[in-house]
Amino acid sequence: TLSGKTAIVTGSNSGIGLGIAQELARAGADVVLNSFTDRDEDHALAADMTQEHGVSVRYIKADLSSADACRALIAEAGACDILVNNAGIQHVAPVDQFPVEKWDAIIAINLSSAFHTTAAALPMMRAAGWGRIVNIASAHGLTASPYKSAYVAAKHGVVGLTKTVALETAEEAITCNAICPGYVLTPLVEAQIPDQMKAHGMDRDRVIREVMLARQPSKQFATVEQIGGTTVFLCSDAAAQITGTTISVDGGWTAL
Ligand code: NAD
Repeated sequence: TLSGKTAIVTGSNSGIGLGIAQELARAGADVVLNSFTDRDEDHALAADMTQEHGVSVRYIKADLSSADACRALIAEAGACDILVNNAGIQHVAPVDQFPVEKWDAIIAINLSSAFHTTAAALPMMRAAGWGRIVNIASAHGLTASPYKSAYVAAKHGVVGLTKTVALETAEEAITCNAICPGYVLTPLVEAQIPDQMKAHGMDRDRVIREVMLARQPSKQFATVEQIGGTTVFLCSDAAAQITGTTISVDGGWTAL
């Protein structure tokens, strides 16, 4: 059980981050939710999770494209035993046409934010004598696809940062690992299915198998619950000697 631990999950008002936050709360951790918005529903989400799991759940707004905001998020949380760097965005374009501002935003949010939050959180973990850092990379942290230069570069960078932080904390009760999901069925991905069905003139099952999961041998999406469960495992005592590595949750994508 993770009771008494505080977990900060970046980018956690939807999708994978929310799934991870739910599983950490179910395992007994107090949770800090985050995104760049400050809406009533963001705070309502925290209240609902507090109710459901009987742990403390807070929502803290921070736009992680800013270095200062990343560090302020950790400071405002006040404690950080478990840090999950999950916030991420995507843009798809050929490298010679890739908008510079999109490149800069993806590197800032998908890669640099993890550097800033880690730098701010490590002193707290050292003071507590225990810590877990889980970086949500991607199959694209290990392999590439065309037209995703910024995303692939950032996710490979996250894997490199993960290994380096693991070496710097190797003799302490702190681990740092990356989870590399394949295609995960989040609301964002679900919303693309009708358009893909129209574009390819295929039914839902065929578009999922032949278009969306073309590179995922299992022909099934990973779920946010599975990414959350993998995160909880990495926070467990069984995973105490797992550090500086990647765990693929990709239905066999990177075995191809
Ligand atoms: P999502 O869009 O549902 O979630 C992204 C989260 O990041 C949201 O909570 C969003 O509000 C937040 N975010 C975006 N910009 C931010 C900013 N500037 N500051 C703070 N928060 C910000 O997407 P998702 O599919 O849940 O993706 C979550 C992570 O998982 C990303 O890092 C993504 O690269 C990675 N991933 C997703 C898949 C997939 O198939 N869905 C596969 C592999 C890796």
